Amino acid sequence: MRDFSLREYLLNLIKSMKFRIFMIVALAIIVPVILAGTIIIQVSVNSYMDDRIEQFQAENAVLKNTIVSNNYFTEGDSDVVEATIDMVANEYNCHAQIVDTSNIVLLDTKNTNVGNTSVAEPVMLALQGEDQTIRDDGEHYMEFALPLISTVPDEKGNTASQIVGVLYLKYSTIEAVSFRTEVTRSVYIAEILAFIFALIISWICSIIFIRPLQRVEKNIRDVNAGVSEEYVYQKEYTEIVNIAEQFNKMIDEFNAQAKKRDEFVSNVSHELKTPITSMKVLADSLLSMEGVSSEMYEEFLKDISKEIERENEIISDLLDIVKGEREAEELNISSVSINDVIESTLKRLTPIAKEKNVEIIYEDFRPVIAEVDELKFSRVVTNLIENAIKYNNVDGKVTVSLNADHQYFFLSVADTGIGIGEEDQERVFERFFRVDKARARETGGTGLGLAITNDIVKQHYGSIGVQSKEDEGTTFTVRIPLKYIEQV
Ligand code: ADP
Repeated sequence: MRDFSLREYLLNLIKSMKFRIFMIVALAIIVPVILAGTIIIQVSVNSYMDDRIEQFQAENAVLKNTIVSNNYFTEGDSDVVEATIDMVANEYNCHAQIVDTSNIVLLDTKNTNVGNTSVAEPVMLALQGEDQTIRDDGEHYMEFALPLISTVPDEKGNTASQIVGVLYLKYSTIEAVSFRTEVTRSVYIAEILAFIFALIISWICSIIFIRPLQRVEKNIRDVNAGVSEEYVYQKEYTEIVNIAEQFNKMIDEFNAQAKKRDEFVSNVSHELKTPITSMKVLADSLLSMEGVSSEMYEEFLKDISKEIERENEIISDLLDIVKGEREAEELNISSVSINDVIESTLKRLTPIAKEKNVEIIYEDFRPVIAEVDELKFSRVVTNLIENAIKYNNVDGKVTVSLNADHQYFFLSVADTGIGIGEEDQERVFERFFRVDKARARETGGTGLGLAITNDIVKQHYGSIGVQSKEDEGTTFTVRIPLKYIEQV
């Protein structure tokens, strides 16, 4: 269990932005520093060696000159040559030999080989006339074998150059090792300092970059816990400002939803209470009266029965709404003749229209077959025509028309009724909205019919609109796709 949580902690740490910023900044400093250190060591040692070689070559030239100009191989002054060679040998920790053309050692600074054949390999090659240079960094030495050339007069009195011997020098380069060690030590110290600096800088960067995110997180947490004011406000980074903005929009949306829900619940309670209050008033007044006639009883009970009916209507509309929301994706879609649905609805509603002497005109421009949920769609037709009759004047007119193009069918229900004021037209689809509450109670409306109608049309991916003028009439237009769009 402990292992698991440690693993989780490490995983979270690795996944955290803080850790990643820390690593990126640290590596961005450390990697170049290491590379630069390695290059510095290499370049310093190389340039040190180049300097040394230049010095060796200068000394070689001096020695060569001394040997030749002192005619060392003939009658020359060997003391000067020996002194010069000894001086160089001491100064550079160098082993020097002078070898004659038969490869016999004439002078050796270590005095070990004089009179013997030289064993130094480059000497043999130098006797052919070519300068020899061998550098061995592994064994830390440099060898030079330089042909010594002298000009001597020939039989005819002309001067000619000829090899008279070889100057062999073996310089130790061991000091390059201590030089490298010294440079490396200095570079390592600089690298350790840079490493510490990198850790501090990356730690600071990770804190600075992450802080605004942490603030947003705390802000959101406070909002969620209801501790803080409702909005997240950050202004550090554009991205965070955007996130905060989106979050605030979400809060707005959430608050709007919550408000709508509260309104709905309070409307529901109010609407359900109204018929109950009426019933209570009717029953109480009946009880308070003495010697009530049976006609009076009958009249009161009829009123009570009407209220019960109304309560029933509200409840069944509410159930329809809730069910509609729940079953939004479970429509019972089939190919339906829209003309038939309208005709049967009209047949059902004609008696109600007759009560008000409202004339119903039906214009179907073509037969329309569409993929709809027949039961739900007939609810749409019923609601619209019922309203057109309900909110019509006596002797009014209702015109129902059906048309289609290759993609949609269009149903319009126009009446010559009381109309809806412009400011209320948008709101008629809200739940429980009624233009004239007192009048609506008389007509027996619940204020839910158009909300249900709107929900059903939307479930079919259609649209509904209203056009109206007060005291002239109202037209509702519905547009629904002929083919039901399956959502993936
Ligand atoms: P109700 O059950 O009250 O009829 P609806 O949701 O069907 O509820 O309608 C909401 C309100 O819109 C109605 O109360 C009425 O004020 C108004 N309304 C609906 N249809 C019409 C219409 N054809 N003419 C005038 N007003 C209408």
